[in-house]
Amino acid sequence: MKPRQYHERTLIVIKPDGVQRSLVGDIIHRFERIGLKMVASKMLVATPAHIEKHYTLDPEWLMKTGTKAIKGYTDKGLKPPSTDPMKVVALVLKNLIKYMSSGPVIAMVWEGAHAVEIVRKLVGSTEPLTSDTGTIRGDYMLDSYRLSDHNERAIYNLVHASGSLKEANEEIKFWFKDSEVIDYDLILEKVIYGMTGGK
Ligand code: ADP
Ligand code: MG
Repeated sequence: MKPRQYHERTLIVIKPDGVQRSLVGDIIHRFERIGLKMVASKMLVATPAHIEKHYTLDPEWLMKTGTKAIKGYTDKGLKPPSTDPMKVVALVLKNLIKYMSSGPVIAMVWEGAHAVEIVRKLVGSTEPLTSDTGTIRGDYMLDSYRLSDHNERAIYNLVHASGSLKEANEEIKFWFKDSEVIDYDLILEKVIYGMTGGK
């Protein structure tokens, strides 16, 4: 086989609601069945400081997430809580820290061609109400910005997945030591990426 063109690694975290709803097996199965390879995993209860750092590794996340939240309201003809993205995101982050540190999570690194993009496709968009059917968030959860606002909490959407290759590289380094990420071959990779001269 030629060198592993387009191979990437991405971070997936099964959030506390995913663990509590006993969806760990179903969620992992989605990544296995498409042909990705798990190269690291651990269960832990994350501290609030760990979650805050995770979401602010990218200094642009605050602005991007605040802007996305405002768009989520205006697309539905609703009035956002504020027109200032930084004000909107401050509350999102506070609620998110509470949610993500509320119980055990499972952090994993998955590897394969186009891993970052493929995983985001399987996970679906942020708000389960508008995530596509067939995605994890679209199939297993029904939450919405309206409902999470009403209940004064973060959107419950079962999984975190890195949003870009840059984010993935930073997040993997933040959650795992180099020695915890394992390099190994899976037989199925020969089939997926092309058998040399085989029948
Ligand atoms: P994603 O997880 O799809 O990459 P973001 O990085 O924008 O989404 O946000 C991180 C997490 O914060 C989301 O998965 C969700 O749990 C929560 N969240 C984001 N925006 C909002 C919001 N406007 N209201 C409530 N929770 C939110
Ligand atoms: Mg994100």
